[in-house]
Amino acid sequence: MKFLVETSARHVHVTQQTLETLFGAGYQLTVKKELSQPGQFASNERVTVVGPKKELANVSILGPCRNADQVELSATDARSIGIVAPVRESGDIAGSGACKLVGPCGEVELTEGVIVAKRHIHVTPEDAEKLGVSDKEIVKVACGKEGRKLIFDDVVIRVRSDFATAMHIDTDESNACLGATEGEIVR
Ligand SMILES: [Zn+2]
Repeated sequence: MKFLVETSARHVHVTQQTLETLFGAGYQLTVKKELSQPGQFASNERVTVVGPKKELANVSILGPCRNADQVELSATDARSIGIVAPVRESGDIAGSGACKLVGPCGEVELTEGVIVAKRHIHVTPEDAEKLGVSDKEIVKVACGKEGRKLIFDDVVIRVRSDFATAMHIDTDESNACLGATEGEIVR
C-alpha cells in the first residue's frame, strides 16, 4: 500500500502570546493554504529566524496557534545559521535549540524550541490496520525518484483519528531522494 509523501519546508509554530508580540496585540493568523492534516494551515504571516551566525527571512508560520513555540528547520538550515538542533518529534522540545524570532512588531527570544523534525507518517486508525502498523512504531519507507531512490529508516508512525495519512519529510530528506511524492513501508 502506497501513501502520500509531503515535503515540509522550514516553518514555525507559535503561541498566541508570541504571535501578538511579533505582530501586535490581538493579532490573528490568516489562512494562505489548508494543509493535508485537518485543521492545519500555512498562514500568510512570515518571521525571521535568527541564529548566532546568520538568519533565515520569510519563514512561514503554520496555524493554528499552539501551546508552545516550535521552529522546524532542516539540518542544513540549522547548521547554516549556527544553531545546534536535535532530531525530535513535534512537541518534544525540552532542551532543544535556541533562536530569536523577529516579526514586524517585535522579537521573541526562544531558549528552546528549535528542532529538526523526526521523519514521521501521520496515519488514520483505518490505514494503520491496512498498513499493519501501530502508534510509535518505527518503520522503513522506500521512496524517491529514479537514480536517487532510497529507504528511510527511523520513520515514526503516529496514529490519530484526526489525521490524514501522509508522510512528512524535510527539504534535506526530499532533496536526497530527488523529491518523493509517494512511499511504501518495507520490512
Ligand atoms: Zn507531520
